Amino acid sequence: MSTIPKLLSIAGSDPSGGAGAQADIKTFAAFGCYGMAAITALTAQNTRGVIAAWPVAADIVAAQIVAVMTDIRPDAIKIGMIATPDIAAAVASALGASPRNVVLDPVLIPTQGVSLAAAGLERALLVNLLPLARLVTPNIFEAAALTETPQARGVDGMTAQARLLIEAGAKAVLVKGGHLAGAPVDVLVCDGETRLFHGRRIDTRHTHGTGCALSAAIAAELGKGAALVDAIATAKVWLEGALEAAEALRLGEGRGPPDH
Ligand code: PLP
Repeated sequence: MSTIPKLLSIAGSDPSGGAGAQADIKTFAAFGCYGMAAITALTAQNTRGVIAAWPVAADIVAAQIVAVMTDIRPDAIKIGMIATPDIAAAVASALGASPRNVVLDPVLIPTQGVSLAAAGLERALLVNLLPLARLVTPNIFEAAALTETPQARGVDGMTAQARLLIEAGAKAVLVKGGHLAGAPVDVLVCDGETRLFHGRRIDTRHTHGTGCALSAAIAAELGKGAALVDAIATAKVWLEGALEAAEALRLGEGRGPPDH
């Protein structure tokens, strides 16, 4: 029996390797884990943005997940781009009653380019996938969309939105404040408590797929058995290093990825 942590990504494909399933698998490898991926959508994109996205049929997404779940039982699962309400429902039923250590990154809109979410995806994520997740990791735009409230301007607003997502059925919510000006702060609400994670602002434009990498890194640490707060702290320090290293990697003409 292998003792290496086994991680499954359920995510969209980014052929440029900066975001989505490709970023997740690189991140799992960086954390010493065995990476797997069930693809929910194909995209055409590069460092300049997402040009087009094509969802995979929901039954084909489900078949990929069932194939993995019935053979290699993952220690943790990262869910990223889900694309359509049908895929959200199919993923939930394919995962079954008690998948371990699910981190849900509710991908809706890329920083540049076409939308990654069909109409009604927000509600489908809340109904189908939120209850399965050990942690949900929206950025401030996704938190506003999921809670149907105005965009947060600081920690108070982020905390209020995290609490709304807990009321909607989430076990733990990390609202990421990196898009707000100033020193970055993320807010975790879990078990009735609020905890702030203060990060360093890394001066780089190469941030493509940063959210994908962070959620994959947290999943990897959970798969190794880390406690939630420790998994987030470790993942954030690793990501800061990957963002610093992105300046040397300097891929493409637009926003390249961190060096996973
Ligand atoms: N493409 C895919 C498949 C993604 O999952 C994501 C984000 O999660 C993106 C593109 C957008 O990444 P970013 O906005 O960080 O450039």
